[in-house]
Amino acid sequence: MDDAATTKPGLLLIISGPSGVGKTTIAHHVERAIDAVFSVSVTTRPKTDDDVEGRDYHFIDRTEFERRRDAGDLLEWAEVHGNWYGTPRHPVEAASAQGKTVLLEIDVAGAIQVKTNKPGAFAVFVDPPSEEELLNRLRRRAREDESVIQRRFQKAQAEIERARACGAYDAFIVNDDLQRAVDEAVTLVARRLGRDLPPPNVAG
Ligand code: 5GP
Repeated sequence: MDDAATTKPGLLLIISGPSGVGKTTIAHHVERAIDAVFSVSVTTRPKTDDDVEGRDYHFIDRTEFERRRDAGDLLEWAEVHGNWYGTPRHPVEAASAQGKTVLLEIDVAGAIQVKTNKPGAFAVFVDPPSEEELLNRLRRRAREDESVIQRRFQKAQAEIERARACGAYDAFIVNDDLQRAVDEAVTLVARRLGRDLPPPNVAG
């Protein structure tokens, strides 16, 4: 039998990290490697030329965001850099009910909310190899002037500290090398999924 009553709910996998750390690239590699469903967030952030509606985000205005949030349609939400971001509840719960692993690429505030509501979620935080390297990466990709880069750097440092302190993360991985970081993330998730099958047989 393979119906909703017998299917084990899929894992909610959270991937977070400061801007510039490469978490989106890691998240998409992990998504393919473990055949996960990527949760497409809603956001009030203006769409850029690099964004594809429905693939990267659903772009909505603040009125629509408030409507969905107040109707309970968002699993979590947060304000990031002055814009609102949220995870639509229904697609996540529907995919999970079918036993699929669902990948949420969200910030620390969102991860805390998901772990509070769904304690079985597995949360991974991606760290830069060093603060110096993070600053270099922000400089390389930024078109902004140095004061904007410094502000982003400070925010990134605060996000890293908050991730450490909040207790929501099950694992921290360092993006020193993309392939190595992806392999580590996939190994962690596979172990988590495997551990879920029989009860763990470890002392303590
Ligand atoms: P960006 O606008 O650069 O794509 O994303 C900015 C930040 O928002 C990133 O840290 C990303 O992880 C976070 N983010 C994207 N979608 C969501 C979401 O649905 N909920 C929360 N809490 N954060 C999100």
